[in-house]
Amino acid sequence: MRVPLLDLKAQYGPLRKRIRAVMDEVCDSQGFIGGPRVEALERKIARYCRVPHAVGVSSGTDALLASLMALGVGPGDAVLTTPYTFFATAGSIARTGATPVFADIEPDTFNISSARCREVLRNPPKRFRKLRFKVLMPVHLFGQCCDMEPLLRLAREFKLTVIEDAAQAIGAEYRLQGATRRAGSMGAAGCFSFFPSKNLGGFGDGGMVVLGDAGLAVGVRDTRNHGAKQRYWHDTVGGNFRLDALQAAILEVKLERLNDWHAARRRNAERYRKLLRGSKAVLPAVAWAGRRLKNSHIYNQYVVRVPDRDRVAEILRKEGVDTAVYYPVPLHRQVCFRHLGYREGDFPESERAARETLALPIYPELTEAMQTHVANVLRDAVA
Ligand SMILES: *Cc1c(COP(=O)(O)O)cnc(C)c1O
Repeated sequence: MRVPLLDLKAQYGPLRKRIRAVMDEVCDSQGFIGGPRVEALERKIARYCRVPHAVGVSSGTDALLASLMALGVGPGDAVLTTPYTFFATAGSIARTGATPVFADIEPDTFNISSARCREVLRNPPKRFRKLRFKVLMPVHLFGQCCDMEPLLRLAREFKLTVIEDAAQAIGAEYRLQGATRRAGSMGAAGCFSFFPSKNLGGFGDGGMVVLGDAGLAVGVRDTRNHGAKQRYWHDTVGGNFRLDALQAAILEVKLERLNDWHAARRRNAERYRKLLRGSKAVLPAVAWAGRRLKNSHIYNQYVVRVPDRDRVAEILRKEGVDTAVYYPVPLHRQVCFRHLGYREGDFPESERAARETLALPIYPELTEAMQTHVANVLRDAVA
């Protein structure tokens, strides 16, 4: 049986008519940059995340970059983040001229560890001691929030601004001081990606920054448009980080279905849990389960740990099952960051995760028969 990692055609089918209708409206208007569709999506994403402000941007990467630029982060600054994430997290930091400094992850959730962050902030590696630690950038990896309470406490203590990389976690929930909060709403800025494979994906690149502070929202808005408050008058140097009206119109249609898709992914995760019970594969931990949260995990990826990962992936491939490795090389081991002076062994949990993890198909339209096939093959492969 053939089981793809993701099947966007299955998602598009039932929405085809409506999406083509809104695309026609944008085409007929010939208004492609900004405008009412982008503003409508900004309002809806802000409401969805329960924050007052949202700024549509050209990608998740640009959401991170524009947020850092609006905060004035640059050379001489350090941004503390995780080495076990998609490249854009640290790439956007480096592009401002600031230095990404890493702290290792928790082995159960793969999210950044507040204890490791504290160690780095208390006693940074010597080569980073001249830098000003300005920003903490936690990543809600695979669709589950980091343990934000101790991270926010740490940020207050060390006077760091928090930018959440919530690219994989739109709608993921966390209990903070008795209140249910959504990913992206707990720091000064929350960054989302609408890359097609995210839970809310467009027909190309797109992203959003959500913010609590009106002043910073203006900063990101200006940065998105070459630092111009008024056309041709530039107070700062920004970039072209704008979201297309076509993408916004498509995303508005898809946003209506997002909670159903989250629920279907959750159901699929439950099925895997039953099908793989007692196998040698280590299933994803749901850290915030049982706190009256619906979306304690939105399963952008369903990532298991298996012994002899590459051999297991190859067996699955031969049986028609697509998998992926997120991520095979932690960021402190990337060639482009060699100058940061990190060595193998510096972040043992990130390095172990890079060796052991495998993402299984979890998309909403996956059938029970497909999941049974995946589970049977995986069970035998790790036995
Ligand atoms: C996808 C992703 C990004 C970047 O988003 P793009 O829209 O592809 O630029 C950043 N961080 C994480 C953790 C991601 O998964």
